[in-house]
Amino acid sequence: MARIAFIGLGNMGRPMASNLAKADHDIRGFDAVAAAREAARKDGAEIADDLAAAVAEAEAVITMLPAGKHVREVYEGDGGVFESVKQGTLCIDCSTIDIDSARAVAATAARAGFAMVDAPVSGGVAAASAASLTFMVGGPKPAYQRAAPILAGMGKTTIHVGDAGAGQAAKICNNMLLGISMIGTCEAFNLAKKLGLDPQKFFDVASKASGQCWSLTSYCPVPGPVPASPANRGYAPGFAAAMMLKDLRLAQTAAHGAGAATPLGAEAQALYALFDSMGGGGKDFSAIFEMIEGSSGAAK
Ligand code: NAD
Repeated sequence: MARIAFIGLGNMGRPMASNLAKADHDIRGFDAVAAAREAARKDGAEIADDLAAAVAEAEAVITMLPAGKHVREVYEGDGGVFESVKQGTLCIDCSTIDIDSARAVAATAARAGFAMVDAPVSGGVAAASAASLTFMVGGPKPAYQRAAPILAGMGKTTIHVGDAGAGQAAKICNNMLLGISMIGTCEAFNLAKKLGLDPQKFFDVASKASGQCWSLTSYCPVPGPVPASPANRGYAPGFAAAMMLKDLRLAQTAAHGAGAATPLGAEAQALYALFDSMGGGGKDFSAIFEMIEGSSGAAK
């Protein structure tokens, strides 16, 4: 089992680090916020008071941070990971960040002689707690082969999708599809209700017909048909609408850079930005159903 430094002990990082400890890895954690360090200490984790101390003896460093600027600061900044770790340390960034930042940090790692992969996750806090995340991994194959057994302690599926940044590319394409399909599912339920259909009856049909998709059958945005979905608990996240907006923005930035037409991705971003501006950012992303239903009277 490996000595692993885990940096970023927030909603996702804390249960991920805890699962690695349960898988018999030797974990030393760090978070910039004292309250997050204390919470992780209560899980029984060994927590360092600064980044350099957390990573000094590590064979692998895992980061789970909010955005690209945090990832660049933690790896490339003064006293950061690349200045503080032993030669040969494997670096695994599990954050969801922009592809350019992921590639830039990977290039710095390669110049400094460190193996690195980007390994963003699919699955929210529940999957992080249950060690059932899906990892999509970008980076050199030997680095992937070293990372895979570690990632197995936090997830069920690990897929090597390509070179540095490819994990982030897969993640934002998937989440753009998810944002679009969730809005489509909400519109279909709203129209069904307006046309006098019982939501359960519409679900019974669509879940067995060509409209079937994950947003419908696993994460249904109306209360009732899928008991485990956030719609049945007041749309508590789950996966927050603000997080979905972040990922849709990353997708639009990437689409502009790549010259890819994503008109529905752009519309999904605009709708989630509107929902966020109306105060919905902290709710589960399926709560956009409430906005669509509420604006129905105005739509002609
Ligand atoms: P979070 O805000 O709860 O946790 C991030 C943690 O990083 C915080 O505790 C913060 O204090 C810490 N941090 C920030 N800068 C730091 C620094 N310089 N050094 C050390 N620690 C620092 O966020 P989260 O929900 O855990 O998400 C983390 C990442 O996972 C994000 O990139 C997010 O997009 C992605 N993600 C989240 C979910 C989800 O459902 N929450 C699902 C999939 C992917």
